[in-house]
Amino acid sequence: MSEDAPFRTRRDPGEGNPRDLRYPPLPEPLEVGTYDNHTHFDFADGEHPLSASEQLDLASQAGILGVVQVGVTLESSIWSANLAAREARVLAAVALHPNEAPIYETEDALAAAIAQIELLASQPRVRAVGETGLDFFRTEGESSLKLQRMSFEEHIRIAKEQNIALMIHDREAHDEVLETLERLGAPDRVVLHCYSGDLDFAKKVAERGWYLSFAGNITIKRNQHLRDALEWAPKELLLVETDAPFLTPEPFRGRPNASYLVPITVRKMAEVRGIDANEMAAQLSENTERVYGSWSAA
Ligand SMILES: [Zn+2]
Ligand SMILES: [Zn+2]
Repeated sequence: MSEDAPFRTRRDPGEGNPRDLRYPPLPEPLEVGTYDNHTHFDFADGEHPLSASEQLDLASQAGILGVVQVGVTLESSIWSANLAAREARVLAAVALHPNEAPIYETEDALAAAIAQIELLASQPRVRAVGETGLDFFRTEGESSLKLQRMSFEEHIRIAKEQNIALMIHDREAHDEVLETLERLGAPDRVVLHCYSGDLDFAKKVAERGWYLSFAGNITIKRNQHLRDALEWAPKELLLVETDAPFLTPEPFRGRPNASYLVPITVRKMAEVRGIDANEMAAQLSENTERVYGSWSAA
């Protein structure tokens, strides 16, 4: 792999709050391999951001069998699809992120960009439409929210037409995400990426057969509501992700995240559910392949 990602820069946390920009050390590898079902290789982080191939090599050393590289703009979706087409350890998800959709300003401009996403979604190694959804935390204002909702609805349509997974970003929008999917009809496979709800919401999600993808923030002390949801959720609906370079698990919180750190989150998931890490990893792999298909197939 030769081309480097068109890096986007991670936001600075602000003055007076310097981050430790060193990548954490390689954890003890998983004995039973599994997948990172949501990462962003094209977001630069750290003093010396690792390239996609460096990250993949470290991930392999940690027992990670493959990743889903997730697009958030048209540009990053094209890059993600191209990477998946030439790299056996990568599948792609393509979409305009809910906070990116309003940047198009008009419905016509947004529709034109979504038409490009639709073309990408038909490629054989693009196995999900995402990340799409609703974000009431970072998007404000009536016209922006209107575009965000239009974008979500169109992405749902594409996932259904292509019969691939729908990967949802839901930030402070649980009720409306659910309502939108109910109203339009959900695709067969729906993933709530970086699951952020509580136990009650997990019950509503699981009732519909949708997947809960847990990230490194389950290791943070104050997130007991996530661990409650994780402990309860049906095992066949669990997934693991990094959302790298964000959401680095403890004890490395604030440092750059990458797929090779998945073993930390898998071990925490196993601990919360009171099972062996190997059993957890095997279950996660089975679930991941059910959602996205095989990494080895074209
Ligand atoms: Zn997200
Ligand atoms: Zn993400």
